[in-house]
Amino acid sequence: MPQTSSPTSNVTPKRNSPGVATHWTIDHVCGHQADKDLSHKAADERAGFARWLATRDCTACWQAARTTDTDDTATWIAGRRAAEQEAADTWAHQFDMQPLTGTDKAVQWATRCRHQLVTAAHTSLVIEGDLDEQAWQDIEQAARTIGRAGWWIDQRDADPTDLPELVAAATTADRPHENPF
Ligand SMILES: [Zn+2]
Repeated sequence: MPQTSSPTSNVTPKRNSPGVATHWTIDHVCGHQADKDLSHKAADERAGFARWLATRDCTACWQAARTTDTDDTATWIAGRRAAEQEAADTWAHQFDMQPLTGTDKAVQWATRCRHQLVTAAHTSLVIEGDLDEQAWQDIEQAARTIGRAGWWIDQRDADPTDLPELVAAATTADRPHENPF
């Protein structure tokens, strides 16, 4: 049946007592019909509220849509994170980065932070900038020996071009694998 243009066509007050009806039949846009108790609303707000409800999905459809969205989003985030993790692990192995120390969760996160920061710095400083490859090797070597996961997590929002200054500021406490002798 085609929709009529009347704004009140999809809400029907149920009149079984005098005064403004408290129970309304709502024809939701999803196609479901629901009886709503609007007695908690002021008498002069019920018709407007009922019409507003009719412009939305019924409770069941609304919840179903939200649950699906949330699951999809969580799945998508988990998938993207796994891909990032794999890329970061592969990169760390390829460039002989030191294993990180910290809790498992911190190490995984820090591995992604390190991958992101160091590769972004290489792009900014060498590929797009004018730093020569030898100077970059020194920075990379300094980055390679910073093994404390927390250090990399702390730099997660750093400007990539600040990497040379950041790695120079790292202390021996941040380099757990380095033998000072
Ligand atoms: Zn529905």
